[in-house]
Amino acid sequence: MQRRDFFKTTALMAVSAALPACKGAVQGGASDSLEMDWRPYTGQLKYTFTIATYSRTFTPLVLVRLRWREFTGYGEASMPQYLGESTGSVTAFLARVASEVLPRFKDPFLTEAILTEVDALSERDTAAKAAVDIALHDLLGKIMGRPWWQIWGYDAANTPCTSYTIGYDDSDDVVNEKIEEASWTKVVKVKLGMGEEKDKRMINLIRAKLDTVICVDANQGWKTREEALEMIYWLAERNVSFIEQPMAKEKLDDAAWITERSPLPVIADEACQRLADIPRLKGAYDGINIKLMKCTGMREAHRMAEMARGLGMEVMLGCMTETSVAVSAAAQLSPVARWADLDGNILLSNDCFSGMILTDGKITLNDKPGIGVEPAKPFEEL
Ligand code: MG
Repeated sequence: MQRRDFFKTTALMAVSAALPACKGAVQGGASDSLEMDWRPYTGQLKYTFTIATYSRTFTPLVLVRLRWREFTGYGEASMPQYLGESTGSVTAFLARVASEVLPRFKDPFLTEAILTEVDALSERDTAAKAAVDIALHDLLGKIMGRPWWQIWGYDAANTPCTSYTIGYDDSDDVVNEKIEEASWTKVVKVKLGMGEEKDKRMINLIRAKLDTVICVDANQGWKTREEALEMIYWLAERNVSFIEQPMAKEKLDDAAWITERSPLPVIADEACQRLADIPRLKGAYDGINIKLMKCTGMREAHRMAEMARGLGMEVMLGCMTETSVAVSAAAQLSPVARWADLDGNILLSNDCFSGMILTDGKITLNDKPGIGVEPAKPFEEL
């Protein structure tokens, strides 16, 4: 079905070759033009994923290929439903990039102009923008023959261990199965915010089997600051390293109240989407969780990491459920992250790229140029 969808997309492009909307995607062969094509892909989750607000069994993805001369870059958009993007909205956005932005650029190094124009096409569409941004960075890295961690001047030895997420489940058997699956990791991330009884049950089940560090993501689920602080104190006695988004993202005053009293670092996730959000979060949170799909890609993620560090805030890297394309792109920044939650590709049963790997849970960057990924098969056959 995915293959059929791809050919359908390609066929539509061929039919409408005369239309400017598909121009960027239909030109073939090596040329000075930036040529972009894309295909929808369904990321199948190994387990049903449940957080405070919803559950799901798959994530719609769109894989992007950007070519210039003999070089090829790969990108990806991941669209969990709560972000408000879909395969339809992403492919429509990419068609606009292909027809309205790329034809005017012959030099892929004009990153600043290209990505500013892509961002200006719409208010949101952050995952679609990230797909273009990642593909362009991969392409540039390949032209330069260097990986991005090196271009940015980071030391690949300084990467953190990634956490591995254990989602909530009502069944003890399923939770125990997930704990078993997580036995390799040094850091477990748990999704809480379901209410005191359910939250404590999850932690107790994990602590009965694992003594690894736990990170807690409340996903805005705790209702009052007093409830949140009480839970944080309870968690602090159980080897928990930090708390992500304890309350609703709009409640900045409550976040500041909690952070001031919390024995554990408090990190903004939903409250921190893009670069412009960071200054007002200083003082209300100890750090920020940067995700490519919410911040429009590697260019802005890099700026966010440097701004947070400049403000004395902690940097955490997160992801959606994604293939190794988007996970490896985010991992290029991991040498400056104190914590990383880059397990999106491991949560998938059908990752179709290879890239960043984990060595005993530690993020291990390779020396390959760009974002260091290889497709398992030719792009057209994924
Ligand atoms: Mg989170």
